[in-house]
Amino acid sequence: MNACLCCPPAGLRRRSVLAAALACLSAGPALAAAPAAGPRMAPDQALATLMQGNARYLGAAPQPVAHSAGARAARAAGQAPFAAILGCADSRAAPEVLFNAGLGELFVVRNAGNVADTGAVGSLEYAVANLGVPLIMVLGHERCGAAEAAVAVSRSSVSLPPQLGDMLQPMLPSALAAIRAGGDVVEGTVRANVARSAARLTEVSPVLSAAVAAGRLRIVGARYDLDDEAVTLMS
Ligand SMILES: [Zn+2]
Repeated sequence: MNACLCCPPAGLRRRSVLAAALACLSAGPALAAAPAAGPRMAPDQALATLMQGNARYLGAAPQPVAHSAGARAARAAGQAPFAAILGCADSRAAPEVLFNAGLGELFVVRNAGNVADTGAVGSLEYAVANLGVPLIMVLGHERCGAAEAAVAVSRSSVSLPPQLGDMLQPMLPSALAAIRAGGDVVEGTVRANVARSAARLTEVSPVLSAAVAAGRLRIVGARYDLDDEAVTLMS
């Protein structure tokens, strides 16, 4: 069996393991998935392409995703997604389906509540720095269960298991703000959480903030409506 280039041999000291891990992330196309050849989309073009995909999905006959032998071979050689999605793990909110996208087109990071936690930010840094992704969409959705849970926790009306409770911590400020604002507090939490997650990406990541400043990356927030299945950009 061949050794994995990303996995140092057993017995390496802790420092060597860390160095190997960093080398794996920073080595670029030689070790990481190589971006396909050809020009990259501009951020605005990537956003337009993404939204056109949702329009196709909403149409009567969405275009089938290509699964030809040639397309499969190209994907096996390297990935070049044109957008990254930070979305909720909700089973009804799969980005590849909502945007009528094929394998290799979207770099998708999902967790309950589309929270910009360490794993999500690190994954998106990889997408931007190593794959040249020009667009990140933070995608919340209607009647999000994570938002409902964050509201319940904020009202002290529920006790969650430790790991689930910790995971929802970043959503609590959004839930508290929505409760103060009144109205549909779950919807308010969803919208505030999208904005908060999108803002956090550049607040905590020099990689992402530098890419935005250089015009190589655009970050947008959006909401998926479960009833009409449309994705709408948020200001
Ligand atoms: Zn959700």
